[in-house]
Amino acid sequence: MSKENNRLPSCPSRRELELFCLQTGLSRAEKLRVQRHLAQCGKCRRTCRFLDRCNNLLCMEMQRPVANTALDLAKSLAPKQVRYGLLICTPSPDHNQGAAKAYRTQLVFSANGEAGRNKLRDFDLKKIPQGSLALRLYTDPKDEKLLLFLWEPGPRESRPDRLRWSGRRASVSFNRIGAGGMDLSDFSHLDNQLVYFSKSINKKSRLRRWEILCGR
Ligand SMILES: [Zn+2]
Repeated sequence: MSKENNRLPSCPSRRELELFCLQTGLSRAEKLRVQRHLAQCGKCRRTCRFLDRCNNLLCMEMQRPVANTALDLAKSLAPKQVRYGLLICTPSPDHNQGAAKAYRTQLVFSANGEAGRNKLRDFDLKKIPQGSLALRLYTDPKDEKLLLFLWEPGPRESRPDRLRWSGRRASVSFNRIGAGGMDLSDFSHLDNQLVYFSKSINKKSRLRRWEILCGR
């Protein structure tokens, strides 16, 4: 306990302060106790300010689309049979279906990521045609899944969170970093297809910090 609070009841534990800052996991009475303590204890207030800064930074990072370099790195560590690739989706407004915007896919990169071949980072996503979206593909043979990582140049609020392939009923939902999954598919079958991107109407638009940090 610091000099300035040596007549206060003992400081909350680090865990209590962390939960308080994340606004989760504490009962009403516990929250009130921490709140009252913070009003009187400079040391705990400083700890909370530090935790808030860390959480804010983490939240920002947790909501950024996955970078190409991160996927290249994951591939370099993955089993050889993992394949990855890049689809560029160009708007095809004549096929829009209400709020679902139509795009035409083009497979511009597909590889097993062997040495000497192209990598995803060779493609600067900031330079894709205006209005286009990028979908990075990454196979997960263990779970027989195809992972999709959406990249959209606009702000997060405008990023679609749902994708449906023309002719398929099931849709793919993307989380806050634009990651989603679907059944494994040969990449060549995903080239030159119509896809529909939309935004879920009922999706909670504002998540709390702990929800973001838990990857909701
Ligand atoms: Zn304290």
